[in-house]
Amino acid sequence: MPWRDLTSQPLVRDLLKRSLANDRLHHAWIFAGEESETEPVALGFAQALNCEREDGDFCGICAACADIAAGRHPDVHALKAASRSRQILIPQIRELERGLYLKASRARVKVAILHTADRMNESAQNAFLKTLEEPPPRTLFFLLTEEPHQLRETVLSRCLRVPFRPGTRRAKSERESQIEVWLEELIAKKTEAPAPFRAFGFASRFLGMLKALREEKQAAFAVDFDAAAKESLEPAQRKEIEEQLDAQAQAEYLRERARLLRRIQQWLHARGAPISSLRRVDDLARLLAGNVNEPLALEVAFLQIAQAGVETRAAEKA
Ligand SMILES: [Zn+2]
Repeated sequence: MPWRDLTSQPLVRDLLKRSLANDRLHHAWIFAGEESETEPVALGFAQALNCEREDGDFCGICAACADIAAGRHPDVHALKAASRSRQILIPQIRELERGLYLKASRARVKVAILHTADRMNESAQNAFLKTLEEPPPRTLFFLLTEEPHQLRETVLSRCLRVPFRPGTRRAKSERESQIEVWLEELIAKKTEAPAPFRAFGFASRFLGMLKALREEKQAAFAVDFDAAAKESLEPAQRKEIEEQLDAQAQAEYLRERARLLRRIQQWLHARGAPISSLRRVDDLARLLAGNVNEPLALEVAFLQIAQAGVETRAAEKA
């Protein structure tokens, strides 16, 4: 499958093609978006780097292209979160490094693809940072993530971040549609309500949505030990299982919340909101990941976004 067939992300595709043609390849890339979108591009890039035709494109049929597509090329490494912990752990990073420092067996350029890179835990990120600082020769890293803000600033700053637009294949969720209605009222307004009032309204509805979302995930991951299980499991084991499920529910909640925030950002972008508003959403995502007062953070962010929206329209009228 050559470049021209990667049709769903034309801007990203052209950026990669150009940097390949100019031989100006950054050694670490963050592909920010859904994996259904980012993974094919990362694999295509790995193929273009190693295709036997060596014309900057990829044929999809030579041995190198076929092996990369099938996930069995010895110099194209894929790293995924361990299924049990749902994290990327330090031994996985070490093993990846070992593979990368070996001489390439076939490839012109070795490639490491880190799926859900935001799931690197703290120590894994530290280890990976060292790899980024002293990268193995002729090696490219692709970090695929829907939540780049979960990565440490030191990792982010060493990578070239490429935003992907949302996939067209994924249907818009009910919540996303609801948010768009609220955003219309926040920004594009027909009502005469002042900006603080609209911001407060949006923030409290969004908070209510997040609360329902959290409860939904907790219910989905709740475990109902029946009597037999209760007898066969030690209390400590039950507690451990409950804690694991709880952590999974929390991770799912955070993932979904990040997706909703991204949708808000995309909507604002599509409506021509100023760049400062888009940054506010980034800042908000970062704040929410820390230990902040959620309602307050939301109100402040959306007040600024509402005000920026008003200013844009006033400028248009002038
Ligand atoms: Zn090929």
